[in-house]
Amino acid sequence: MNLSLQNAPVLVVGAGIMGAGIAQVAAQAGHPVWLFDLRPGAAAEARQRLAATLDGLVSKGRLAADAVQATLSRVTPAETLAQAAGAALVVEAIVEQLEAKRTLFRELEGLVGESAVLATNTSSISITAIANGLRHPGRLVGMHFFNPVPLMRLVEVVSGLATEPAVAEAIFALARAWGKVPVHARSTPGFIVNRIARPYYAETLALLHEQAAAPAALDSGLKAAGFRMGPCELMDLIGHDTNFAVTQSVFEANFFDRRFGPSLVQREMVDGGLLGRKTGRGFYRYPQGAPALATPPRLAPPRPRAAAVHGEGPLADSLHAAATAALADTGPPPARKRGSGWTGLEIDDARLALTDGRPAHEVAAAAGVADVAVFDHPLVQPAAPGTALAYAVSAGASPAWRAAAPAWLQALGFTPLSLQDTPGLVVARTVAMLVNEAADAVLQGVCTEDGADAAMKLGLNYPAGPFEWLAALGAARVVAIVQALDATYRGERYRVSPWLRRRLAAG
Ligand code: NAD
Repeated sequence: MNLSLQNAPVLVVGAGIMGAGIAQVAAQAGHPVWLFDLRPGAAAEARQRLAATLDGLVSKGRLAADAVQATLSRVTPAETLAQAAGAALVVEAIVEQLEAKRTLFRELEGLVGESAVLATNTSSISITAIANGLRHPGRLVGMHFFNPVPLMRLVEVVSGLATEPAVAEAIFALARAWGKVPVHARSTPGFIVNRIARPYYAETLALLHEQAAAPAALDSGLKAAGFRMGPCELMDLIGHDTNFAVTQSVFEANFFDRRFGPSLVQREMVDGGLLGRKTGRGFYRYPQGAPALATPPRLAPPRPRAAAVHGEGPLADSLHAAATAALADTGPPPARKRGSGWTGLEIDDARLALTDGRPAHEVAAAAGVADVAVFDHPLVQPAAPGTALAYAVSAGASPAWRAAAPAWLQALGFTPLSLQDTPGLVVARTVAMLVNEAADAVLQGVCTEDGADAAMKLGLNYPAGPFEWLAALGAARVVAIVQALDATYRGERYRVSPWLRRRLAAG
């Protein structure tokens, strides 16, 4: 089988959102492209839309004028599939239904040459299942683009049980030649991105379910940690119906593993028709979107008798610098205590501690200190002034400490976001669960560590990849947070990945 697909004729089946984008990218890379759609006229309309898109790029100075005609001349709307029998590569982007895809590929096998590669852009169906029944299942591979195809650089190259490695490699090389960043994935539910991303929604939905905070507060915390959109506004954008359907399909595909369980909060939104932007209302109302959070009044923390910064590492260093500045006018600088097993600020008899996963009331009980507050992990170092940061005060704390804890966070340069006393607050909890899910994906051979990092950064614009977070936070902290979640909630959702346990044991 000759598997160089350079300049090979391509047939794109399905001229919808994704197919049109794939045809554009292939044609711009120099391939002759046939575009076929079941609906008569759809392929020709897609070509017309492509002409308008390319003209738009020319007027913005992002494309040379002569490239328009060259690209368009390579795209031919096909009246029938048989017209494109000379294709060396087929990329399927039709409706997301197993039987429709199987039927199409069986028909294509009778039309295209023996050495043609068959690729599917499915976002959720098993590649193994689509290939079942083909005469040559080894030549079927997933080529999963992201929307919008011309802009999104990630392509998941998904291998099913039968996919020949040479076929996956040919698609990998081709995606690269098209200017994309391909990542190998094994066909498992959700592939890489849609699987590892589940906790980004699930943890916020769990926090909403127990009324830990309002959507805007949770969104603010995660955006302050570098995520481009908070989970609530992102779910509103995706549509709760779509997101709920993906969650359910990943849940079912994993034999109802509780880790992937959908949320009643989400179900309620779907049942009520609050689907997000498209219906004018989801977590937020549109076009307004998320309400601005009220700016908390500037509070001056009471003058302490004694203060100390505990912990080691860059975060403790920056807390020490901030506390020193905050105390400059009121007394001696804070002491520095390393090796005490926690990170944060000790003020008189109170503790303002970086979350280790445990809720504040557990920290208070274990330390024998009544006045405890825990704060979230400010993931971005050094934190910008005014970074929003979640915190919670222990149940038995004095009224004076309830007022002083947010004032101290302000004095350290943060904008405090008050949460109920939940384990791991919002950023540390979400990131730990993203890392845990990525670790399981690697454990199961779905992808490599580098593949997961590239996929999450390029597919979803995450500010860092899960294994980059793991390197920054350390396996001990991540495992501690997931264990603390498990200790609070029990059940299967918060089980620590065996891969992480091994990493921890390896030091
Ligand atoms: P779409 O509805 O915009 O387009 C699908 C097109 O396929 C339609 O024009 C339809 O007429 C045509 N079609 C349906 N059945 C056909 C058949 N048997 N033969 C030929 N044409 C047929 O859908 P889309 O969003 O472009 O999605 C297409 C595929 O890409 C799906 O498998 C989807 O899961 C996947 N995908 C979508 C996205 C996304 O964000 N939209 C992202 C990644 C992958």
